Amino acid sequence: RQMGKSDEEIAREAGMLPIEEVAAKIGIGRQALELYGDYKAKIREDRIEGLAGRRDGKLILVTAISPTPAGEGKTTVAIGLGDALQRLGLKSAIVLREPSLGPVFGRKGGACGGGYAQVVPMEEINLHFTGDIHAVGAANNLLAAMIDNHIYFGNPLGIDPRRITWKRAVDINDRQLRSIVAGLGGNANGVPREDGFQITAASEVMAILCLSENLAEMKERLKNIIVGYTRDGRPVTCGDLKAHGAMAALLKDALKPNLVQTLEHTPAFVHGGPFANIAHGCSSIKAARLALKCADYVVTEAGFGSDLGAEKFFDINCRLFGLKPAAAVVVATVRALKMHGGAALEDVGKENLDALAKGFPNLSKHVENMQKVFGLPAVVAINRFPSDSEAELDWLAKKCEETGVKAVRCEVWAKGGAGGEALAREAVKLAERESRLSYAYDLEDPIPVKIEKLVRRVYGGKGIEITAQAEKAIEKLERMGCGNLPICVAKTPYSLSDDPKKLGRPADFTVTVRDVKCSAGAGFLVVFTGDVQTMPGLPKKPAAESIDVDGEGRISGLF
Ligand code: ADP
Ligand code: MG
Repeated sequence: RQMGKSDEEIAREAGMLPIEEVAAKIGIGRQALELYGDYKAKIREDRIEGLAGRRDGKLILVTAISPTPAGEGKTTVAIGLGDALQRLGLKSAIVLREPSLGPVFGRKGGACGGGYAQVVPMEEINLHFTGDIHAVGAANNLLAAMIDNHIYFGNPLGIDPRRITWKRAVDINDRQLRSIVAGLGGNANGVPREDGFQITAASEVMAILCLSENLAEMKERLKNIIVGYTRDGRPVTCGDLKAHGAMAALLKDALKPNLVQTLEHTPAFVHGGPFANIAHGCSSIKAARLALKCADYVVTEAGFGSDLGAEKFFDINCRLFGLKPAAAVVVATVRALKMHGGAALEDVGKENLDALAKGFPNLSKHVENMQKVFGLPAVVAINRFPSDSEAELDWLAKKCEETGVKAVRCEVWAKGGAGGEALAREAVKLAERESRLSYAYDLEDPIPVKIEKLVRRVYGGKGIEITAQAEKAIEKLERMGCGNLPICVAKTPYSLSDDPKKLGRPADFTVTVRDVKCSAGAGFLVVFTGDVQTMPGLPKKPAAESIDVDGEGRISGLF
């Protein structure tokens, strides 16, 4: 990598191929493309010739250690791995989530990878892209407006204004909106009640978009959304309010997968964007299915560590849709492991084998989750940063080897696909073996047992504590017949526990279950642990302060 080039500069200098040429590489003809400019397209699967008859490719899941501010690089590695597979002459595709404006303007930045492993056009993908997230927000808020409108006009369904569970949504980190009082200003201006916003990425509508295989199914799922309860505790649904049809109309185009390309012109599907801490963290099932039909190797990323995105990918997505991942890549960095071992953020650039050794157990737990809990062959990708020392890189690779997992250096950030060939070869080798996915819990388990199994098996804790509020919620959900749904845990990503301060591999901890909610449309139960928020705030110095656009429309400051 040439020193000093920003992600934006690299992206801008990359010659892009017309999206038709990228699509043609994986057997998608022009007639199946709905073009959004020259470099983005939505895909009409019904117009792809012979799609149903094609065999599925191999699915490789990219996950990681518990994130730290030092950076891990799952998206970067996933993109670089897709490029490396293409360099090896294999027909590959990448499947990623759409970036949310929350992190883009907040702390974390965009979600298009980095260095020489990026998807492009990065400015467009990071900002409005093809409008999917806006459509999700609009559908979410249409339903919110129809709830309050129903109450305003006499409330024939008898919705209890104090028990409305549906929140409004906006795709901006805005803590000011977490808890609000709405409907103030007298008779003509609605009915006053406590309300709140969540970030669009956490909306059940986002989950539904990602879990629906077609329009009819999406409409049915929207219809089943529970918006709140009546005074005598009966659930009120989106269908009761007759909002699902209009919501589906708003989401009709958003449901079609988006195709873009990497800097090396590998096809990349970027579709759907739920967060992995407060939502299910996986891109759309439609994009995954389509990519598997079109490519021989499909690389996808699930958000945060294996305790969040990967667990949800297996226990929700793969179980529901019969996806069979062939192998998992666990991304680790020397820097982040040193933080897990007690090093301070400002010191992660300095060689520190002691901290690395102390932080290693975090990686080994995530590897165990892949190999032992879910039963998948795994490889560790050591995502190399310029500051890593040879001694550290060697120690880490050896230590992995000793504990039963191969570790491969990955230099895709600095070198693009060429820096990922060793990883690609290893992934291909692993994917050749027969693998059989196990789940962390059974759907028939009672709700507390499901949570407890996750805590013990996947997080490595000793058990759960259920608050009185959660206890009541669980009883009610079991009575309502929702007990057999999979669970989607909202939990801090920074620790395997529910306490963001417990780094490394904490043991002997219990997880506090604060509340359980039914996302009946998405088809899972959301389990709230610790004090995780479904509406993030901006940091003291938001990334937005450094983002700008010049007179020619050139955007700067995105990363
Ligand atoms: P994740 O998907 O795990 O959140 P990303 O791939 O989005 O991580 O990477 C986070 C940030 O770290 C990005 O800004 C990316 O450019 C940067 N990054 C990733 N890998 C490297 C690397 N090897 N060297 C330097 N910076 C990197
Ligand atoms: Mg990512």
